[in-house]
Amino acid sequence: MKEKYLELGVSEPVYDIGARIEQELKERFAAIDETAEYNQLKVIGAMQKHRVSAECFMATNGYGYNDLGRDTLEEVYASCFQAEAALVRPQITCGTHALALALMSNLRPGDELLSPVGKPYDTLEEVIGIRPSRGSLAEYGITYRQVDLLPDGSFDYENIRKAIGERTRLVTIQRSKGYQTRPTLSVSRIEELIRFIKGIKPEVLVMVDNCYGEFVERREPVEAGADMAVGSLIKNPGGGLAPIGGYIVGRKECIENAAYRLTSPGLGKEVGASLGVIQSFYQGLFLAPTVTAGALKGAIFAANLYERLGFPVFPDGSQSRHDIIQAVTLGSPERLVAFCKGIQAAAPVDSHVTPEPWDMPGYDSPVIMAAGAVVQGSSIELSADGPLRPPYAVYFQGGLTWYHAKLGILMSLQKLYEAGLVEL
Ligand SMILES: *Cc1c(COP(=O)(O)O)cnc(C)c1O
Repeated sequence: MKEKYLELGVSEPVYDIGARIEQELKERFAAIDETAEYNQLKVIGAMQKHRVSAECFMATNGYGYNDLGRDTLEEVYASCFQAEAALVRPQITCGTHALALALMSNLRPGDELLSPVGKPYDTLEEVIGIRPSRGSLAEYGITYRQVDLLPDGSFDYENIRKAIGERTRLVTIQRSKGYQTRPTLSVSRIEELIRFIKGIKPEVLVMVDNCYGEFVERREPVEAGADMAVGSLIKNPGGGLAPIGGYIVGRKECIENAAYRLTSPGLGKEVGASLGVIQSFYQGLFLAPTVTAGALKGAIFAANLYERLGFPVFPDGSQSRHDIIQAVTLGSPERLVAFCKGIQAAAPVDSHVTPEPWDMPGYDSPVIMAAGAVVQGSSIELSADGPLRPPYAVYFQGGLTWYHAKLGILMSLQKLYEAGLVEL
């Protein structure tokens, strides 16, 4: 085994420290495998219940009336996520689009949106109109309120209570920390928050941004009382195979609202040809529990490896996990660049190219990104990025298999080691 790693460019000291760390993680990895096993049964059960058959994989075109594959897949998603209904479409272009769709279709002028867990994901700032933007909710007369988490990461119940008013129609809860340094919310914590909110105003709708959270736990947000859960198919639930797409699961009325907004009033879910892409949605969902488990192991392995070498990591090596994102604070631009070069060098695609920092639109400092992905921007595939500014933190996630995630992390360390940026 060691020889094989040496062949791919990992040196002996790097391999050895990796092997030691992996040895120590046996129990945690076993627990992750158990969650994957449970979720695999959940997916298979849902596919059986809705009688998935070969006809479901046939392509439709044009209007896409009576698309059996699309309609059945939506039933499978609804079952998996314990929801009344689902909208799972290639016409939903990404996670931001799915979230915008869920919000815009379920809010009306004069309504207020509340985030009780602090600032939402960057791209939602323009959807909501926190940063003025054309077509935002703000332009349609939908206002926004936010209650930040307390410094220790707990919910600010007192101010959440005060923020819920007559016009509060929808509450958005982001499960993953995204690129912030707050803890990711477990499904139990989301449940606690929803119970509190519905205790004050039962008719308020709760939407959970489920990006990066799917299949990390046994339960999903709808089981915790959410009216909608929303995510991207080029993250966890697409299993690395879906080439595009987003989903919304939840209450029937909410899903219908979203469908009428996605296509058109009157048409709703009835149109939307799947153009042959739906087979990969089934296959991806089928693999998603084990793919997510691989990515999760990679995140935990990296946390423990880099923590051992003295770098601040978030979440830390022993914390429980509720999403697949790992941050490592590397402390210098040289280390950040070397880390990303290692991830790139380990990729199955584009391993021969070298990532360089660039001035990406919308960012105030150069950003470096590493990804050797088949699907552009897919972050369930192994990928890493970070802005070149203090504290020089790298965020990385994904890995369609644990073995690839492991190789990527070892190669990141290899590049640091070769450049004399770390001592082993
Ligand atoms: C990725 C992500 C989004 C946006 O998804 P895109 O597919 O990049 O548009 C929204 N919220 C969270 C928490 C995410 O991780």
